[in-house]
Amino acid sequence: MMYLVRENLFIGNINAAAEVLLGNNVEITHILSVLSSASISFFSEWKSSFSVPTKEIRTVYFEGESSNDADVSDKSKKIHYVLENAGKDLKLVRMGVPLRDMESENLLDSLEVCLEFIDESRKQGSVLVHCFAGVSRSAAIITAYLMRTEQLSLEDALESLRQSNESVGPNDGFLEQLTMFEEMGFKVDHSSSLYKRFRLKVLGESYNRGEKIDSSKFAADPGMTKKEASIESGPASQKEEFIPTPAFRCKKCRRVVALQDNVVTHVPGEGESSFEWHRRSNRSSYNNHDELECTSIFVEPLRWMKTVEEGALEGKLWCMHCEGRLGYFNWSGIQCSCGSWITPAFQLHKSRVDISTV
Ligand SMILES: [Zn+2]
Ligand SMILES: [Zn+2]
Repeated sequence: MMYLVRENLFIGNINAAAEVLLGNNVEITHILSVLSSASISFFSEWKSSFSVPTKEIRTVYFEGESSNDADVSDKSKKIHYVLENAGKDLKLVRMGVPLRDMESENLLDSLEVCLEFIDESRKQGSVLVHCFAGVSRSAAIITAYLMRTEQLSLEDALESLRQSNESVGPNDGFLEQLTMFEEMGFKVDHSSSLYKRFRLKVLGESYNRGEKIDSSKFAADPGMTKKEASIESGPASQKEEFIPTPAFRCKKCRRVVALQDNVVTHVPGEGESSFEWHRRSNRSSYNNHDELECTSIFVEPLRWMKTVEEGALEGKLWCMHCEGRLGYFNWSGIQCSCGSWITPAFQLHKSRVDISTV
């Protein structure tokens, strides 16, 4: 089944997509398939043996890789390029985005490409957004699309989508992420603390599932970035306004180990509810003054943290330049001196770092 959501925008299940591929619905010119990677491959193979031969189909396939700002903008450009150059011969453009219908699945990092694709597709024809059942994944993406394009709250966007198909219902994890999307101003703001905490949680969950965490999932080493940047910056770039960024340096050797942007903030004294028992049992050792004093900062995992890459649950963090001790990491969390639990935690002791600007 396929339902009209807005002009040139439809939501449906896998059968609706199959009908289009079989040539039974010529109204649709673009398909956004949001399926597990296995289903995307299967669907692609099935398509090539049964689709109407006169139709030329281009598939844009995106891996669910970890994204940073550069990746996302590249993807958007790529979508734009593919659609712009699709030409008149191309009757159907299809993009497959791997996503499982699970609460722990990272929807946020797929949103930008999906919304971009829908936007571009609607300018050229009609787009069908589908998943397997047409209930959770496709609905989550269209809800985000309506939120952004019509500046609707999550609740209003979902309500509006239900007028097209009352059975839609993104899973609870997706709803939580859509709430973040709303709080970030209808975009995925990689610099917001909200997003950073989310990314850290996603990373912690994949560690708990036993997946290998390699440094490609870590943030760039600010010590390295600075060095590379200074080599590349010619006279032209020096004219640009210089905005000093607060940075944390190793007290011993002065190497930059983190930027303010890498800090994952927490509200002093506010713990995670699952660790409430732990917090209470430790509480007696703090007096009221110390309790709100954070003696550490917590950051996202950075590429210089070699000990993290080795896969241990916890360990020490050493300065990669002077090998001085900077702090600890623990995938199952560390309690800050203020009482808050940070999970997973990559902790730098304030006594081991200095704040300055770069
Ligand atoms: Zn704290
Ligand atoms: Zn050092």
